[in-house]
Amino acid sequence: MTNRTINFYAGPAGLPLEALKRAQEELLDFAGTGMSVMEISHRSKEYDAVHEEAIALTKELMGIPDNFKVMLLQGGAHLAFGMIPMNLLRGDRQADFITTGNWAEKAFKEAKLVAGDRVREAASTKAEKFARLPKASELQINPNAAFVHFTSNNTVEGTQWKDFPKTDKPYICDMSSDIMWRPFDVSQFGLIYAGAQKNLGPSGVTVVIMRDDFIEMCQSKDLPSYLRYPLHAEKNSLYNTPPTFGIYILRNVLAYNKSIGGLKAIEANNLKKGELLYGCIDKHAGFFKPFVTEKADRSLMNVDFFLPTEELTDTFVKEAKKNGMVGLKGYRDIGGIRVSTYNAVSVKDVETLVAFMEAFVQKNG
Ligand SMILES: *Cc1c(COP(=O)(O)O)cnc(C)c1O
Repeated sequence: MTNRTINFYAGPAGLPLEALKRAQEELLDFAGTGMSVMEISHRSKEYDAVHEEAIALTKELMGIPDNFKVMLLQGGAHLAFGMIPMNLLRGDRQADFITTGNWAEKAFKEAKLVAGDRVREAASTKAEKFARLPKASELQINPNAAFVHFTSNNTVEGTQWKDFPKTDKPYICDMSSDIMWRPFDVSQFGLIYAGAQKNLGPSGVTVVIMRDDFIEMCQSKDLPSYLRYPLHAEKNSLYNTPPTFGIYILRNVLAYNKSIGGLKAIEANNLKKGELLYGCIDKHAGFFKPFVTEKADRSLMNVDFFLPTEELTDTFVKEAKKNGMVGLKGYRDIGGIRVSTYNAVSVKDVETLVAFMEAFVQKNG
């Protein structure tokens, strides 16, 4: 038995053991080639099967309609922050951004570099340190906006849109930290993007899901080739050498997700984990203080809370580590504790943490 650490890192994050074991078994002799998947051509039939399967499983698990293309690109969410305005905000086209956290703000700033005043903030909760999401009544949508950009889960602050914002615009969404945490209706989105390293696989792969009319909206002919979404869509993400090993691991994770019952089963696990963790925080409200101010906005992927003192926070992190749990230190700008409970974190892992928290309160409360 391998001794596995309970991993609450915010990203890169833990992966399902089954997906890693499969990689271990197939590493030296992939698909009867006598080579690893890293060592063979991205044009080989053996790699191509993995590439196609990763795309097909993404479509199947998320119920993606036929008028969307799934692309597996590089550069993380950061490159998407730039590629989106470069492709979609040319000429006099305008867009709105809902600024709900560190990453949402970065997406907005990057879009401004390309599109200047044609992008604007439809709402921001920065004045409240992004500790809640804007209410529907706070959204001021520009009627001329071609799309609204938002971040479905705010990884740093621990807020998550359980109900997506309600506007009459198509959405572009950064789902880096909660893609595939539950089933949802993809059709309302023009473009979804996510770096793989939180909920899907290793860093180095970016999943981009783009509706055909958004691909057609791109004005990209004068951009360097790699920056053109329509080119990647046309070439099925094989214009250049894709990150083959990352896509292979992504395939293993998705195949595992399917084997356990798909996104419905994953959602049930995530709800259970949230109940356990927030249940413990609320039960000891005098000891654990949540960062997020509105219960409805609480994330089921990143849970931020404070202990009464910095000293207790340090002790909490150190003792958790002695008990086989890592990744609990809060993001530097916020402090406190952040527990990241992505799909690969099991209900049992959270039960272990909650038992540790209960004992910690008994001893220090
Ligand atoms: C981690 C994260 C990013 C940054 O991802 P990179 O792959 O490093 O570019 C962007 N947005 C969100 C919501 C994230 O959680």
